[in-house]
Amino acid sequence: MACAFLSLGSNLGDRLGHLSEAVRQLRERGVTPRRASSVYETAPVGRTEQPAFLNAVIEVETDLEPLALLAQTQAVENALGRRRVLRWGPRTLDIDILLYDDCRIDLPELQVPHPRMHERRFVLLPLVELQPDVVIPGIGPARACLDALDPQTQPARCLGAFPWP
Ligand code: ATP
Ligand code: CA
Ligand code: CA
Repeated sequence: MACAFLSLGSNLGDRLGHLSEAVRQLRERGVTPRRASSVYETAPVGRTEQPAFLNAVIEVETDLEPLALLAQTQAVENALGRRRVLRWGPRTLDIDILLYDDCRIDLPELQVPHPRMHERRFVLLPLVELQPDVVIPGIGPARACLDALDPQTQPARCLGAFPWP
């Protein structure tokens, strides 16, 4: 059984409902969510002219290999009506594989650890809340990455407990 950390993000429609529904649907697809961070509201990065995101990180257990896990997370995104229009554009649900055990994967369709996670406050804040001592393979402690980021330029507000279904 592998342990993975997934980042969930939504900035369209019923954002909290999408986070909750993601956990429910993962369960039906061989991915067992164990714990969730609080939910954070964060300003969009990159394309800033879009609604604010809700972000959270969940810890899951699975027998699926990394590429099979990616296929299932993408199936859940699609089931929640995600339409790929713009890269980094608004979406009902985005699921990124942050960590998969202590694996390092560099395939065209899958890089683990997620290559941009260490510079994203909306990822590191919930991740460190969930697992304070977590180390990003090849990078270092997530806590140190978080401390290196400027809270002013990447504000995030804790909204409270994850809507665990
Ligand atoms: P970002 O990856 O910067 O957060 P994004 O989430 O908006 O951007 P997507 O359009 O959701 O990007 O995904 C683009 C592709 O990224 C996916 O089709 C997938 O093959 C690939 N990908 C590579 N590594 C990962 C990973 N660790 N988790 C999820 N997708 C990944
Ligand atoms: Ca993403
Ligand atoms: Ca993604």
